[in-house]
Formats: sequence, C-alpha cells, structure tokens
Amino acid sequence: VTTAITMKGTRSEKDQDAPALSQAELKKQSMQEVRRSLPIFPYRDDLLAAIHEHQILVIEGETGSGKTTQIPQYLLEDGYTKGGMKIGCTQPRRVAAMSVAARVAEEMGVKWVTAFVLRTAHQREPVIIIDEAHERTLHTDILFGLIKDIARFRSDLKVLVASATLDTERFSCFFDDAPVFRIPGRRFPVDIFYTKAPEADYLEACVVSVLQIHVTQPTGDILVFLTGQEEIEACCELLQERCRRLGSKIAELLVLPIYANLPSDMQAKIFNPTPPGARKVVVATNIAETSLTIDGIIYVIDPGFCKQKSYNARTGMESLIVTPCSRASANQRAGRAGRVAAGKCFRLYTAWAYKHEMEETTVPEIQRTNLGNVVLLLKSLGINDLIHFDFMDPPPHETLVLALEQLYALGALNHMGELTKLGRRMAELPVDPMLSKMILASEQYKCSEEVLTIAAMLSVNNSIFYRPKDKVVHADNARMNFVVPGGDHLVLLNVKSLIKTQVSGHHFRARDVRDQLEGLMDRIEVEVVSCQGDSVPVRKAVTAGYFYHTARLSKGGYKTVKHQQTVYVHPNSSLFEEQPRWLIYHELVFTTKEFMRQVIEIESGWLLEVAPHYYKSKELEDSSSKKMPRKQGKTKEELG
Ligand code: ADP
Ligand code: MG
Repeated sequence: VTTAITMKGTRSEKDQDAPALSQAELKKQSMQEVRRSLPIFPYRDDLLAAIHEHQILVIEGETGSGKTTQIPQYLLEDGYTKGGMKIGCTQPRRVAAMSVAARVAEEMGVKWVTAFVLRTAHQREPVIIIDEAHERTLHTDILFGLIKDIARFRSDLKVLVASATLDTERFSCFFDDAPVFRIPGRRFPVDIFYTKAPEADYLEACVVSVLQIHVTQPTGDILVFLTGQEEIEACCELLQERCRRLGSKIAELLVLPIYANLPSDMQAKIFNPTPPGARKVVVATNIAETSLTIDGIIYVIDPGFCKQKSYNARTGMESLIVTPCSRASANQRAGRAGRVAAGKCFRLYTAWAYKHEMEETTVPEIQRTNLGNVVLLLKSLGINDLIHFDFMDPPPHETLVLALEQLYALGALNHMGELTKLGRRMAELPVDPMLSKMILASEQYKCSEEVLTIAAMLSVNNSIFYRPKDKVVHADNARMNFVVPGGDHLVLLNVKSLIKTQVSGHHFRARDVRDQLEGLMDRIEVEVVSCQGDSVPVRKAVTAGYFYHTARLSKGGYKTVKHQQTVYVHPNSSLFEEQPRWLIYHELVFTTKEFMRQVIEIESGWLLEVAPHYYKSKELEDSSSKKMPRKQGKTKEELG
C-alpha cells in the first residue's frame, strides 16, 4: 500500500465516522498513520536505545525507509531538544534540504526554518545527523573529519551518520569502528532490461521509452534519470509535445521535472498523488537517486549518465562532464522502481556496458574538484595543517598544493600559508574563492552593486539563454533583446535589471542569493555602491577574481594563457561571433569540446594591474599589434 493511498483512505473514512474532527486534526491523524507505516517505525525504540548507548552511530537503511524525515522527530520526542537545544541535520543537496524540511514541518504541524550553511558545530547541539553520507559530497566528507575531531573533546555530542545501503562499513571504520544500525528495507523485485545495442541519442530514447511504457504497461508512475536542467527541460518539452499530438488517443500523462534550480512550488508538485486514470512521469537529476523518494514509482528509465565535476590538477581546470554513472548508482536507480510493488527498470545501455564500461562506485567529489573553497574554510576554522587532516579519502596531493597556490595568487594566503586579512574576509562569503575575490575587488572599483548581481546570477544558473534544439532561432532572437557589448556577465546584469519586477524561476533564486550576499557585505565591510553603467570597473573586478581563467585569441582559436590549452567560446555566449582578443571565462564545460561558458572581454593590461605576482608582462605581449579581423557576421545594429 502506498502512503498516498493510505492517506486518502484514512481521510474519507474519518470524514464519515467523525465529522466533528477539523480538517487540520484529520490531516494530523493521517500523517501519523503514514509515519507509522514507514520501514523505520518498528525499529524506533531500538534505534533510540542504540543512540543512547553509543556516541557515534552509523544508520543504514534503504532509500525511503524514513531516515531523513523520522530520525529528527524521534530524537525530539525522546527529549533531546529539552531546554531549547537544537538538533543539527545536514543535507548535501539544497533541494533535498528544503523538501525534507517542508515535509517534516508538515508532519509535525509546525513551521520549520532551514539554514543552508553549517560553519561549525559550536552551538552545542546535542545531536548532529550527517545525512546522505553515501553521497560523499565534498562538504559531507569535510564534515566527517571535523565532526570526528569535535566528538573527541565533546563527549556529550551524539553523531549519527545516515546512509543508504552503500558501503556503510567504510563509515564505521572511519569513525573508529562505530556500530552500524541496519534498518531492514522492504524491497520488491525489479526486472531489469537492457538495450541490445548502444543508444545514439539517449534523450530521444527516453522519450520513446516513456511513451511505450505509457501505452503498453499497467498503472504506475515513471521516473527518468537525466543529467541536468537543460536535458530535463528538453525531455519534458518533447514529451508534452508528443502527447499533445496524440491527444485523446492516450491516457493523461503528467510530466514533471525536478532539478536543483527549479522553483520550490514546482518541486513540491512531484509529490502530489497521481489522479486516477492518469500516469505521472518525473524527469529528474541524481537528486531522485537517493535524496528524494517519490511514492508510486513502478518504472525507472536509466540512460546511465550523470554530470560530474572533473578536475585536472596539472592545469587547474575544473569542468563539468557528462559521464557514465557507476554501477552503484545504476543499482540505486533501479531500486527506485521497487519500493511500493514489483517494478521494472529500463536501462538504455547494454548489459556489456554495465559490466565493462561502468565503474564500480562513484569517485568521492573530494578527489575530483578544486579545493580552494575547502582550504579557505578549514584555514578560517584554524586548521592549518591540511596535509594531516583526517580525510576519509584524502584528495590528491597536487590538488591540495594547487589550491594553496591559487589562494596565494588570489592574495588570500601569505607565503607562510596563513590567512591574510583579505583571505579572512573571503572566507566569510559562502561562494568559491574566485567569486568572493571578485566581490571584494568590487569595493576598490566602486561597483559592488553590479558585481553582487552578477555573482548571484552566475551562481544560480548557466542557462538563462537556453536554446532548445527546435527553437534555436526563437531563442537567439530573445537573447538579442538583452545583449550588451562586453560579454555575458554584463548581459546577466542587464537581464536582471530588465526583469526586476518579474519574479520567476531562476531569477527568484538569484534574488535570494543576492539578498544573502548583500546581507554579508556589512560583515566584511564592503559598501554597496553602483558604478552607474560604466562597464570597465565591473570587468576589472571580474578580472581580479578570475585572472586564472584568461584565454587569448591566437591563430587557431582561443588558448588559455598559462597552459596553452585550446578552448572555445560556448555557442550560447553573447561573444560567440565577436571573438575579442582577450577573454575571461567563468567556467569550462566539456561536451564535444572544452567550451568556455559565461565569458567577458578584458584588456591584457588589467591582468598586470590585478595580479602582478601571477602574470609577467612578457606573457601578455600580443604576437602582432594589429587587432585580429572580426569574424564575418551580423553586427549588433543589424540584429536590432
Ligand atoms: P530516507 O531518508 O530513508 O530515504 P525519507 O525520510 O526521505 O527516507 O522518506 C520517508 C517517506 O517520506 C517516503 O515515503 C517519502 O516519499 C516521504 N516524503 C519525504 N519527503 C516528502 C515530501 N516533501 N512530500 C511528500 N512525501 C515525502
Ligand atoms: Mg534520506
């Protein structure tokens, strides 16, 4: 029985039997019944006893068994919050944090406040829950080391490490052989189907599979795993369009996306029960692999890919790459189909690929990311010796060294490796070091108003100018309305000011981030002032933060200045046709080639001004003094 059905049944029964109960009371009662139906419930008292007995406990349970939503409530019911104490819960993903917080609040009939950043466990929380430990995100891994250390001198602190059924022995081992509490899952069998040959276009294959399931298979919702927002939006559009064309020939298909930047009201929709006669298809990122559980899923479609950060410690370049997911991921995905009944998982790859082309497990993020942020954070917490920090899986040595070098170049560390005053201020901002340096540099260039907006826009989304394959012309025309000379950062600024009144989607998120950053300006003593439309100060501030990301146009195209790596302007960029001589990029994305996403035009002289210790004037000499001929194409005026 799915929880959704239980809830419905309870409500109508009560409606007849006890009309005196108010709606709110009814809701509370049915919620309590749902809570009691979760796999974790029979183990409630044993779990609380184990928590009482041990300082550190690893809790393993199948996804959806109730770890995230129930454990904090059990602790509260058991008196851990007496005297106004707070239980600390950490979630590696923002979307999941908001969604589960909303859910717990609903179950308890209260309002719930979430904080996004846990800096230290200094507030004397009686319990800290490190949730979704198996995800092994950068911050979860850092927390492991910090909390293990804190637990040594705070014997009153309880540490709960909650994980899906993946590698929990490793957690136990890391926390000095902490016991593992296992919640037996209820899993129904899932039939797994592979394709006979590799799929050339997995997006199209997903769309076809969804429609096939919809017309040939019995009731049950579908979950599709894609790698990111653009793919998900494209898939949803294709599905909607084909359903429209088929019209009343097929039953109703509700198409619902879920990814990190989706507005929260849209996110909440995936949990709504499917109306009778219809079918729901949720098109999701990895978020639905273990962090969120959607009841009623019977069919899973898994193309076998995910988007991963990858880091080259030699060149210092970080890129997002779509890669095959691990076997562990594939198995978690399949498991989503067997929560409420026997299910089916359609893998859009061959059985051979599963065996031979996929890695056993996903490499922890700490081993494939730039560590600048982490080093800054740890240094600001007074942890100077990073080489001997207790990492569960240590990052590669050269990555750590490079992070130290970059922070030195940014002026955040002195030659002894200690935080400078600038570094201390940078650490106050919950963003990457380059971004925080850019924000701090805006003080000097008197353009903090503009730079804050750009920082917020950059940190929330990469695709305001999303170009669906079938609507390229339309999208490009729309984009032209916002284009201003100088580069994408300035376009973002323009977009933001033009749509100030229209609060939706990304822009809503961007405003949140901007408000949060602006709130922190006081702490780091930066006055918020505007440069009144002059783009030079803004571009100089960007250069001060991102001088590492400089590319120069030479004969064969763009090359990065320090490592001579060939890179390309992303076709979505406002500078795609323009090809200025010197560029700074915000990030690299590898699809068919290394693309620079979000680029801005700069003058090479500025590099010497903002990073004299990093660039020598000789490196920045132009091979010819003449400007490169501009590429043929329509000018901005012609395009209107
Ligand atoms: P776990 O952490 O063990 O994976 P959860 O506590 O997240 O399990 O989920 C327990 C149950 O709560 C699931 O049945 C899930 O569908 C439900 N649930 C969680 N979040 C929400 C939500 N936002 N809305 C509706 N149901 C939810
Ligand atoms: Mg959970």
